[in-house]
Amino acid sequence: MPRSEARDVPISLSKSLSVIGDPWTLHILKESFLGTRRFQDFQSRLGIPRQTLILRLRQMVINQLYYKKPVQHRRLIFEYRLTPKGVDLYSMILGVWRWHKHWHQTPHHLPEQLIHTSCGHQITPEFVCRSCTGSVKAGELSFAARFPNTKFAPPATRRTRIVNQYQSKAANEMVTVIVGDGWSLLVLNAIINRVITFDALQKTLGISNNVLSTRIKMLSSLNLLTQNQSTTDKRMIHYDTTPMGKDVYPVIVSLLQWGDRWLAGNNGPADLIKHKSCGSIEGFVMVCDHCNRRLYMEDVRQGRLMG
Ligand SMILES: [Zn+2]
Ligand SMILES: [Zn+2]
Repeated sequence: MPRSEARDVPISLSKSLSVIGDPWTLHILKESFLGTRRFQDFQSRLGIPRQTLILRLRQMVINQLYYKKPVQHRRLIFEYRLTPKGVDLYSMILGVWRWHKHWHQTPHHLPEQLIHTSCGHQITPEFVCRSCTGSVKAGELSFAARFPNTKFAPPATRRTRIVNQYQSKAANEMVTVIVGDGWSLLVLNAIINRVITFDALQKTLGISNNVLSTRIKMLSSLNLLTQNQSTTDKRMIHYDTTPMGKDVYPVIVSLLQWGDRWLAGNNGPADLIKHKSCGSIEGFVMVCDHCNRRLYMEDVRQGRLMG
């Protein structure tokens, strides 16, 4: 195995974002986790343009997040059912739900309560290390590159328009906005991992001036990051994440692990994620805050719906 070295941007995160880093894709996924399966239901619940829905669902089938199941319903129709690969995004969705609940935002189409069927408690999912079972917070993981020369492939930069379009909705769709944008999430993750100046971010992410400054502006306006003068050089700005920004971490790591499991290819994941405090690379999961057992989609039911 090649020598390991630290990497600020895990390869699997950008791979995952290339598959689901799109606002509509995320909205469709959230609907699926609430039980929606039919085209007409996606369309009416999301208010999504028909052609956009056709294109997104087609792409999601190609990416093997869904399979089409024929059902008899007056005439023959097809339902969009999550594949195991799609279901495996549940941790990420729980991370989104957890964030919104914690910060008192009112997201559309997210359940107001989640109940862990096997223990009967209403839950707030907790993100923990599988090995030491300790709760995992921003910056407590390290990434070692197994293939140091693997090129980090950033998401397409076509999303400025989407950012602008979604900025107005950002207050109640914040996590969807930043995950859906792709770049915003990569910038946030890099800052959490202590890449804190404009030049360093630009170098690490291979991102243009314009794309980076749009994202920094957006993340600041959403109160996910702060900009401070350096104490040693007043001309230098240092970025830091706010507690709200740091709390996106479980979403980031869940997405990254999903990429490791499903998009890594024959050689396995390009990076090893380690829990710094216990040294384990076993991975990180969402558990019930009452019984500490791992949360699976089929074992969680929903209370009332928000939005
Ligand atoms: Zn641990
Ligand atoms: Zn439980």
